[in-house]
Amino acid sequence: MLRVKNLTTGYDGVPVVFDVSLEINEAEFVAIVGSNGAGKTTILRTISGLLKPISGEIEFEGKQIHKLTAHEIVRLGIAHVPEGRHVFGKMSVRDNLLMGAYTLNDRAKVNRLLNEVFEIFPRLKERENQKAETLSGGEQQMLAIGRALMAEPKLVLVDEMSLGLMPMMVDKVLETLKQINKEKGVTILLVEQKVQEALEMADRGYVLQTGRIVAHGTGKELLESDLVKKAYLGM
Ligand code: ATP
Repeated sequence: MLRVKNLTTGYDGVPVVFDVSLEINEAEFVAIVGSNGAGKTTILRTISGLLKPISGEIEFEGKQIHKLTAHEIVRLGIAHVPEGRHVFGKMSVRDNLLMGAYTLNDRAKVNRLLNEVFEIFPRLKERENQKAETLSGGEQQMLAIGRALMAEPKLVLVDEMSLGLMPMMVDKVLETLKQINKEKGVTILLVEQKVQEALEMADRGYVLQTGRIVAHGTGKELLESDLVKKAYLGM
């Protein structure tokens, strides 16, 4: 579904991600894990068109997308849940969700999607009319994911959802992502520095160190690998 080929990308022509290749199949749950500053966010921003590659290619459903605008990429079915959530604080939960459906003009469909999101996140339904800024961190993360789902995406890019969340909340949000993946068939690419939690949940993973992929495999294989054990699990 998504194929990243020999991607080098960064800021103002200075690369921070080097020669990265990865593939995600339809309906898979894939994690890119690595420490702070490894370049995970930079890869997601490049896939969603916010940054242009220095070299390399990105293909989505057989079509090259790395020269398209971020807006065009959203329309192809790729939604991005950014690090730090970026909910609209002064707007209600409901209006935040409706913002996610801005590419759709079929009202009945928007209502159906809204109900689906409320089914996945009953907490958001209970707080439908509350201002987003008054939600807890975990609830804001749910809102950011809910907003992405309102665009009816085929692929959701989730950036560092664990940031600032209590461990219990991290598990809950990860489990919900897994549920969205398995029950709705939405493909998920997650980037995370919580290496263990992410690899336990993902079908497959890639380990990124200082802008380079140093290992890949199933979540289980990676968790059992010496590299991951030593570098991230303190074993
Ligand atoms: P984190 O978990 O901290 O978000 P990350 O793996 O997502 O880490 P990136 O945010 O992709 O890492 O950052 C990779 C490198 O790119 C870092 O060295 C960072 O300082 C640099 N970088 C990030 N944003 C910019 C920017 N806007 N301009 C210049 N350099 C940047």
